[in-house]
Amino acid sequence: MDLNDTPEQAAYRAEVRAWLEQNAVHAPATRGRGDEQEAVAAHRAWQRRLAEAGYVGVTWPAEHGGQGKGPLHQVVVNQEIARAGVPGILDAIGVGMLGPTLIAHGSDEQKQRYLAPMLHGDEVWCQLFSEPAAGSDLAGIQTRARQEPDGSWRLSGQKVWTTNAQFAAYGLLLARTDPDAHKHKGLTMFVVPMDAEGVTIRPLRQISGEPEFNEVFFDDVKLAPDAAVGPVNGGWGVALTTLMFERLTIGAGSEGMGYRADRFAAAIASDPVAAKDPEVRARFGALATELLALRFTGYRLLTAISRGQIPGPEAGMGKITAVNGAIAAGDLIADVLGPEALDPDSEWSYLISFLPGLKSAGGTEEILRNTVGERVLGLPPEPRLDKGVPFSELRAKERQEVAS
Ligand SMILES: Cc1cc2nc3c(=O)[nH]c(=O)nc-3n(C[C@H](O)[C@H](O)[C@H](O)COP(=O)(O)OP(=O)(O)OC[C@H]3O[C@@H](n4cnc5c(N)ncnc54)[C@H](O)[C@@H]3O)c2cc1C
Repeated sequence: MDLNDTPEQAAYRAEVRAWLEQNAVHAPATRGRGDEQEAVAAHRAWQRRLAEAGYVGVTWPAEHGGQGKGPLHQVVVNQEIARAGVPGILDAIGVGMLGPTLIAHGSDEQKQRYLAPMLHGDEVWCQLFSEPAAGSDLAGIQTRARQEPDGSWRLSGQKVWTTNAQFAAYGLLLARTDPDAHKHKGLTMFVVPMDAEGVTIRPLRQISGEPEFNEVFFDDVKLAPDAAVGPVNGGWGVALTTLMFERLTIGAGSEGMGYRADRFAAAIASDPVAAKDPEVRARFGALATELLALRFTGYRLLTAISRGQIPGPEAGMGKITAVNGAIAAGDLIADVLGPEALDPDSEWSYLISFLPGLKSAGGTEEILRNTVGERVLGLPPEPRLDKGVPFSELRAKERQEVAS
């Protein structure tokens, strides 16, 4: 891949940069501690402003309000947002993962109804996939949806770790609709209004002090007959689309996550003694090398996308490297700045306390390493006890295996 901008990309970059220079004054402070409602309102207004300028949903088709451009244009926007030091959009989960899932699998009515308000941040979305006993093993979900004779659905169960549910208008939810089918087969994806009767949202407070995610309970929630996205009992394929876009959002977005070596270097250089310390310099050199290598892994990912290929396990390795590099940088900055790095008003305290959670979000490190082991290194696959067994018989089969 040619790492320089083409003349067309350079012109686009100049346009984005000029727009950000003019509009950065309207950007909210990077999300952290403080009044959540105010912060969300400011962030929502920022997303709207970016959307009106055409910098949200850059890769979405024009008929759905996007710009119909390629992923490299999205990367240019991410890079320029990072360069300007302003936050990205409020609803990265909706626009980056759930909107593309609706575009790929939703009905014309669903696309017409939901996509434009999502793009502008007027209706924020959340991803209702993980459950207390189904995270890495997502196909093990137990939330049940039963169809009534009139075609409507009744939904009962629990989701957990649901980011943004506290202010989301809608959620995309994976439910079990046929427990007698194999566990990947009897699943269906639904659109759920978060203000429906029977939905209860409880915040979960993270180590950073912020309740950014939630547990969500569904107690006999009624859903309209047209709430299913994609085929009934074909929800696993729909979920795979979301997970592919999740990897892309994290992989192509890592530039925009702000985990750049120069940002960390500036903090270390602010302490002249630490900046000359050989041990600090060696630790910084190691992590800066990792982050630079990550940028080139990202370019390989983009090369695959721009050739119309589906990115492989390098997306997962990119996520592991980005998170571990940023954790190492946070540790180094905490060592250099001392307790002041953890002061609630410090630029670093939120980053340092938020990062450990990212080791789990979007696929845990162990799961991503398993994928690399199996698909890249050709190591023997994990034992899979659940192959070909109806979901309703799985527990009995697991008990038998344990007993023998
Ligand atoms: C900040 C954050 C935001 C999130 N937001 C959302 C959201 O909006 N919506 C949503 O649906 N989910 C969300 N999640 C949940 C996330 O998808 C899950 O945390 C993730 O899938 C892991 O599942 P789990 O937490 O149940 O861990 P588990 O799957 O129970 O794993 C626990 C540990 O066991 C290890 N492990 C599990 N299976 C294996 C195996 N086969 N081999 C080796 N090791 C294994 C894991 O690596 C991990 O270390 C979020 C999580 C975080 C941290």
